Amino acid sequence: MTKPLLVLGSANADLVVEVGRRPGGGETVLGGDTVVLPGGKGANTAVAAARVGASVALVGALGDDGYGSLLRSSLEDSGVDTALVKTSQRPTGIAYITVTPDGENSIVVSPGANADVAESDVDALSFDGVQVLTCSLEVPLETVIHAIDAASKAGVKTVLNLSPVAELPAETLKQLTTLIVNEHEAAQLASDWRHLLRLGPHTAIVTLGERGVAVVLPAGVKEIPGVKVDKVVDTTGAGDAFAGAFSARLAEGDRVVVAAEYAVKVAALSVTKAGAQPSYPTAAEVSSPVA
Ligand code: ADP
Repeated sequence: MTKPLLVLGSANADLVVEVGRRPGGGETVLGGDTVVLPGGKGANTAVAAARVGASVALVGALGDDGYGSLLRSSLEDSGVDTALVKTSQRPTGIAYITVTPDGENSIVVSPGANADVAESDVDALSFDGVQVLTCSLEVPLETVIHAIDAASKAGVKTVLNLSPVAELPAETLKQLTTLIVNEHEAAQLASDWRHLLRLGPHTAIVTLGERGVAVVLPAGVKEIPGVKVDKVVDTTGAGDAFAGAFSARLAEGDRVVVAAEYAVKVAALSVTKAGAQPSYPTAAEVSSPVA
């Protein structure tokens, strides 16, 4: 059964360890206990969408190993359909994250199975009943390009979270309903937000951290202010929370600006809790008076 929202992207196990300081070359330091968290931009986006009630499937790959089973069950527990997450011969993607007392992260990503998400996986998809395809990177760029092409030709709305910035064919950019980038990525792509549409997408959204987002439409730029929160605990995965919630509303038929207004609330709530996926709110939490 195809879901109205498909998210194509990575799923990683985030292995997080606190260290007093980072080791230099040839050096060993002792850290704290390892914390294993579900992560990866694709999985985060899909979970954020599912939490706010979307019927969503992730298109991706996991290894045939312990982390793979862990991530598959955690996606399913969050309500994400994993039928389109294949089991690869390669190990599950892992992000090795060290955190120092100043809160700074250093990350090594081993893509593993994510590098196996292929154009043939896209060819096997049915877009019947699909309203929106949302892609993030950390999977092969040619697969993302192929998926956007196939979806747009099938009349499906397409969303791309272009983080980090990668070079895309002009044709792919033209096939996008919405391009999502943060402020730094937007600056790499265009001298002015309004110029983002000259690259080809029908609409673009620039996320501005606590300042909210700017929605770039053919008629002009609409700024949606951020939602003020009492205490910022952890902004990890805020961009994915925004992309997931935005896609969820778009798949329900909301207009781009309306979907973005909703997603700004979701992303704000996500920074009030630790972690990425564990911080994502439910629809009920978003509509509660404090939100
Ligand atoms: P990224 O994490 O991808 O760089 P941003 O930092 O722009 O993206 O955050 C994505 C979205 O999360 C923002 O557009 C905003 O809606 C929300 N957000 C991020 N930080 C805060 C904050 N401190 N307070 C409220 N909302 C925030």
